[in-house]
Amino acid sequence: MADIVPPERRACKRCGRIDKWDDEKETWVAAVAGGSKQRGRPHCLHEWDITGTYNPLSE
Ligand SMILES: [Zn+2]
Repeated sequence: MADIVPPERRACKRCGRIDKWDDEKETWVAAVAGGSKQRGRPHCLHEWDITGTYNPLSE
């Protein structure tokens, strides 16, 4: 049985930024790993490792 994980976490394939979905703020926030926020590079055009069809933000 495969685990179906909702896209509540995403990682950038370019700079290594890791976001997690904040249900209360309803936005992505930088995940904390090793005691520091995983923000990646500030000017990275992030390429997330989740499918492009899921977009909770209506931009
Ligand atoms: Zn990035």
